[in-house]
Amino acid sequence: MLVLRGIAASPGLAVGEAMIIASEGYRIPRRLAPRAACEEEVGRLDRAIASSADEMTHNREAVARELGDQYGAIFSAHEQMLRDPQLHREVEELIRLKRYTAEYAVSRALRRYVQVLQSLDGGYLAERTHDIYDIEKVLLRHLLGRQREDVFHLTQPVIVLAHNLTPSETAGLDRQFVRGFATEIGGMGGHTSIVASALEIPAVVGAGRLLTDVSGGDKVIIDGHEGVVILRPDKETLARYEQELKRRGAYAVQLQDLWEAPAELADGTRIHIYANIEFPQEVEAARQRGADGVGLYRTEFLYLASIPEPTEEDQFQAYRTVAEAMGSFPVVIRTLDLGADKAPGVGAVEERNPFLGVRSIRLSLRNPQLFRVQLRAILRASAFGAVQIMFPLISTLEELRAARAAVHQVMDELEAEGVAFNRQLPIGMMVETPSAVIMIDRFLKEVDFISIGTNDLIQYTLAVDRSNNEVADLYHPADPAVLRLLEMAVQAAHRSQTPVSVCGQIQGPHYLMLLFGMGIRDVSVAPSAIPEMKRVCSRLRVADCEAAARHALTLDSAREIEAYLKEEIKRTVGEEEWSSGAG
Ligand code: PEP
Ligand code: MG
Repeated sequence: MLVLRGIAASPGLAVGEAMIIASEGYRIPRRLAPRAACEEEVGRLDRAIASSADEMTHNREAVARELGDQYGAIFSAHEQMLRDPQLHREVEELIRLKRYTAEYAVSRALRRYVQVLQSLDGGYLAERTHDIYDIEKVLLRHLLGRQREDVFHLTQPVIVLAHNLTPSETAGLDRQFVRGFATEIGGMGGHTSIVASALEIPAVVGAGRLLTDVSGGDKVIIDGHEGVVILRPDKETLARYEQELKRRGAYAVQLQDLWEAPAELADGTRIHIYANIEFPQEVEAARQRGADGVGLYRTEFLYLASIPEPTEEDQFQAYRTVAEAMGSFPVVIRTLDLGADKAPGVGAVEERNPFLGVRSIRLSLRNPQLFRVQLRAILRASAFGAVQIMFPLISTLEELRAARAAVHQVMDELEAEGVAFNRQLPIGMMVETPSAVIMIDRFLKEVDFISIGTNDLIQYTLAVDRSNNEVADLYHPADPAVLRLLEMAVQAAHRSQTPVSVCGQIQGPHYLMLLFGMGIRDVSVAPSAIPEMKRVCSRLRVADCEAAARHALTLDSAREIEAYLKEEIKRTVGEEEWSSGAG
């Protein structure tokens, strides 16, 4: 049994058989081949090695002809390694002695090389691991080429284990069969975890090296509450988790009683809980669980899921579906937030620092036609429900003004065409950069509402990449600098009587105390989190929350603040209540 600690990316527990996805989405099959198939496997290996090496020779020659020898040499290392008799010997031995399939033996042998290189030093040699992953990829393509299985079309339940999953790959996972997943890299605020929560797939990211230690078909436990991955659990551990799965199942059923109830604090204060959605289908879950509306519709997922990019009509249909389903409840449609870890595909540029680059509103403003099409679709949908528009990642007043001007231009265009839309629709912005908070009094004069995106606000305030597990310990919602910014934004919004909500993932039960104590009454969260949140609300009082927030703001570090808030919520809702929940 091997226990790995990663980052809790999407809550829930899952137990099942591992399915390993190599880079490029190859599924590495189970490890053993029947004894009689041994010669056949060695033959397949010979052919795969020979054709992979030939491919490299061909690449080297072709590139050298076009660009010169030094560029062709890029392929020499791969070629040499593929023609190295020692590699052949090692893989063949694994097939003959351990009865591994050729794919599994290749992957086992190469991953051992990676392990050795990684353990030697953190510099040049570790960089060479990319070459080895490349070689693995080529060999697997030659071995599995014709029978490449689409990992997104499964026929039995699995736990997916991968080096990394992009947000769009995650969006493509088959929810019916993927019980959970774990990745080696990835941070706590990345969009992969957001999609996993949307799909309600338990997930752990940033678990470190795990693919070298696991085989397809091995039993795996994913604990998405604690961020733990257990490979080949022993009997006792398995029994414990199966028991816990049952308990949580029963608890989720209990929470159903709260689905229809409004969110209210113990002192009667009404809280509005909205839903964050990525896909129109989620609106059903949001309604069922009694969301007060959609507080954040991340429309970029329409783009990530469709090639070529969605047309105005595709978008209009999606937005209209959500607007109609929510009836008179507000639906805040956020304009495209492509870029950074949500690979654009449209208007794509190679960037060294994508989180500081052409992402989000910047991308929309630089692609007026793309922006116009989306705005037309949103405005047309505004005739079918309480639609509001929100701009992401605003960092200057000019950006806000340019974005608003684009909306008004499209309004005029639609009016001239005689197309119905709501000219009064509220226009707001996300507050997710320090500059937006610093200038908040000026921004507030030009918007109808603001929504604080803590996921990005944390990353930009603390200079910590939200999707990088190497710095995940520095990415902290409870950092005093983040709390000060939150407080500044909320107080300014109250002074100018502008509606303010929080739509980042900061609403663990203990953070709720903090937010309510600062004066927040509107939050937007994944639909699956709504019932538990209502339960926590019903145990809190404004006065206690205010006292807790006041004290938290006097503390010096994220660690102290977090510990204090956890103690405080346990004291307020009771130890028993605290530990029975999903937190
Ligand atoms: C945020 O940054 O807090 C937010 C809600 O937006 P996203 O997670 O989509 O970047
Ligand atoms: Mg954001």
